[in-house]
Amino acid sequence: MSLISLADLGWSAAREGAFAVHAAAGLVPGRVVLEHNHVFRVRTAEGEILAESAGRMKHRAEGRQALPVVGDWVAVRIDRVGTRSQIREVLPRVTWFSRKVAGRETEEQIVAANVDVVFIVFGLDMHVKPNAIERYLVLARRSGATPVVVLNKSDLVDDAGAAREEADVAAAGVAVHLISTRTGAGLTELETYFAPGRTVALLGPSGAGKSSIVNRLVGEELLPTGEVRDWDSRGRHTSVHRQLVSRARGGLLIDTPGMRELQLWDTDVADAFDDIAALAAGCRFRDCLHDREPGCAVKAAVDAGTLDDGRYASFIKLQAEQVDMEKRRDERALTEAKRAGKIGSKALKALQKERQKSGQDS
Ligand code: GDP
Ligand code: ZN
Repeated sequence: MSLISLADLGWSAAREGAFAVHAAAGLVPGRVVLEHNHVFRVRTAEGEILAESAGRMKHRAEGRQALPVVGDWVAVRIDRVGTRSQIREVLPRVTWFSRKVAGRETEEQIVAANVDVVFIVFGLDMHVKPNAIERYLVLARRSGATPVVVLNKSDLVDDAGAAREEADVAAAGVAVHLISTRTGAGLTELETYFAPGRTVALLGPSGAGKSSIVNRLVGEELLPTGEVRDWDSRGRHTSVHRQLVSRARGGLLIDTPGMRELQLWDTDVADAFDDIAALAAGCRFRDCLHDREPGCAVKAAVDAGTLDDGRYASFIKLQAEQVDMEKRRDERALTEAKRAGKIGSKALKALQKERQKSGQDS
């Protein structure tokens, strides 16, 4: 029944070893391929199952971080009598992408896990700014995945070589590939990053061509799983779009909405500018913005010529952007809360009831 093995999904001897304790408890390993409203589609050696996360996991103190996400390896108690299977544990993640969620307190929300390689995709229909490359590289590196820069739409520019050279400098040793999903140029280079069990994800500005790349790399060659239909709550047939797909040609691809929403402002400015962060340790004030504050070691370095003033300028700009973004995000959260308030107590009660019910089920 199972057309792909766990090894094809990235299962390894190390994971097997770590899983021994769960196996002893009667749980089976699986990888999360889709998440939808706290119901997870999990690929196991016995095929794909729907599972929900166990109640005690939902309410654990670690909050969202403890919940399974696409790409996670999990320990599942498979139910054999007709009720829903349960995810009992999330195995330690090797790499993960996360974003900060504004709320009462800023929370880290993990959007994808166990990604080995991340394609940072740009479209050459726009000038690819070196600092955009730098910033996405910071995001990628923080995840633990190996970054690769992909310059798409090479068919649209006369001098793609020059764009590539400029990107090479910013990428500072990271591989840069020039491709076109339109003509197919360079796609075989991307194939080299796929191998059985290896997981690739895509990151980059909207419109860069990520969907087109996924289509090219996966296309019609999605592995048949024997079960490609699902039923929605009204009993209608809906097709299942997995967010982690196995390629017939080998390797896996993660394409989640969460990854798409990952934007530069999720990166702390300080991460992208660790040289400035180091200098900031010498500022008189701990909350120095390195703008007009007295005793600023960063400004002093600019004046002394030891910190490039162009780099300083982009730091100030990025910092302002981030502050602005956070403000807007907080405003949005507030509007949403207000709107939710307007919907009224009826909707809230229904929601609470639903929550209670799922709590009892698990
Ligand atoms: P995404 O937002 O990153 O997923 O980008 P899409 O894959 O949706 O592509 C955005 C637009 O760029 C679409 O209109 C695509 O047809 C177009 N596009 C994608 N790849 C190429 C390419 O290699 N060359 C050209 N000329 N257009 C492309
Ligand atoms: Zn300062």
